[in-house]
Amino acid sequence: MRRRELFNSLASSFTKKKEEQVEFIRPPYNEDKSLFFKECPSCEAPCVTLCEEDIIVIAEDKTPIIDFSKGGCTYCGECAKACEYEVLIEDSNQKISAKVEIDMLKCLSWNNTMCFSCKDPCLDDAIEFLGMFRPSVLEDKCTNCGFCINVCPSEAISVKGV
Ligand code: SF4
Ligand code: SF4
Ligand code: SF4
Repeated sequence: MRRRELFNSLASSFTKKKEEQVEFIRPPYNEDKSLFFKECPSCEAPCVTLCEEDIIVIAEDKTPIIDFSKGGCTYCGECAKACEYEVLIEDSNQKISAKVEIDMLKCLSWNNTMCFSCKDPCLDDAIEFLGMFRPSVLEDKCTNCGFCINVCPSEAISVKGV
């Protein structure tokens, strides 16, 4: 392989890796992510209009993603009921596929200021405080509902699609 070809191949595998790292946060009740690309671009997206929390938005590629900046998911099931293409399936138990974490550097409580803003909205009791401070998300309890995210005054709670 010539030097230029080698460089191009390395560059494209690097770009591909970077692209692969960005995983969108998708609505719940989906069991096959490839269907978002196959079915959603030609759908009128009733999941967006019927979401009572208004957290489903359509991305540039015309597929639905979750935007937790407005609220969280109640798992009401309305999006799945509305989906005629079975991208979202009513009988599915699949939660939003994501990982929720608290950044110790940004979190007020980890920096000795009392704050329980994230604790109350978490109906699953998935945020554990050590004494009065140092909260962390309990993965086995967290449903990725996202209700803790926009209430944090220091934007210390992050959510990534997985
Ligand atoms: S209703 Fe179903 S097919 Fe239509 S955009 Fe939403 S998830 Fe996709
Ligand atoms: S389950 Fe309900 S709240 Fe959650 S994304 Fe679907 S419609 Fe919205
Ligand atoms: S995303 Fe997890 S930690 Fe946050 S409120 Fe929902 S269940 Fe609790």
